[in-house]
Amino acid sequence: MRILVLSDIHANLSALEAVLADAETVDAVWCLGDLVGYGPNPNECVQRVRELPNLVCIQGNHDAAALGKIDTEAFNSEAGQALLWTRAALSPASMEFLGSLPEKQVIDLVTLTHGSPRRPLWEYILDTYTAALNLLALDTPYGFVGHSHHPVVFMVNGEDAVTYDLPEADQLIEMPPLAIFNPGSVGQPRDHDPRAAYAIYEPEIRRWTQRRVVYDIVETQNRIRAAELPLRFAMRLVEGS
Ligand code: ZN
Repeated sequence: MRILVLSDIHANLSALEAVLADAETVDAVWCLGDLVGYGPNPNECVQRVRELPNLVCIQGNHDAAALGKIDTEAFNSEAGQALLWTRAALSPASMEFLGSLPEKQVIDLVTLTHGSPRRPLWEYILDTYTAALNLLALDTPYGFVGHSHHPVVFMVNGEDAVTYDLPEADQLIEMPPLAIFNPGSVGQPRDHDPRAAYAIYEPEIRRWTQRRVVYDIVETQNRIRAAELPLRFAMRLVEGS
């Protein structure tokens, strides 16, 4: 069984289409939230995700803010501006879909959240200390998270210390007994690699494969300009920052 794990699409349709084409046929799709915010195609991305096979989708902080559940003042001014644009652009059907999403879901071996298992909407897992607290809080062997836009794996080594790995494209990881995985961001990578990031999870053999794919950044930039969204969101796509 191949499960496509993706996160932080951020209304970047070109990146999403490239990921779906590159992943080829999958048995299920697990989406870890932030379908919208920053980018120019929120409705198209929501629609495309809704059509995916055996979809499990989690709500992210940008999704919640676009729905008005979170005040846009909790974000920096440009992100807040993009969220107000998104709120106005979202169709009733997109709003209803995003509003129906849970903040946390457990499937077999895995707890799915956007931020962290402890604080699903907000906490970033950026260091081994925060990862350790979240590994202790898990009721399952694995946590799949997004939010930081960095592909990373936090795991417990033989000495009960938490270590991490920053997987390269096409790196296969034999999943350790207890770990937190982040597939990186589809629509706004921040690890200085501008390619869209995602992962393939194969539960039977407990294998995680990190993937990266080139997409048409210029097309997304042109759409950002046409939508009059902050230009910084177009520029940072080139650097993956
Ligand atoms: Zn995000």
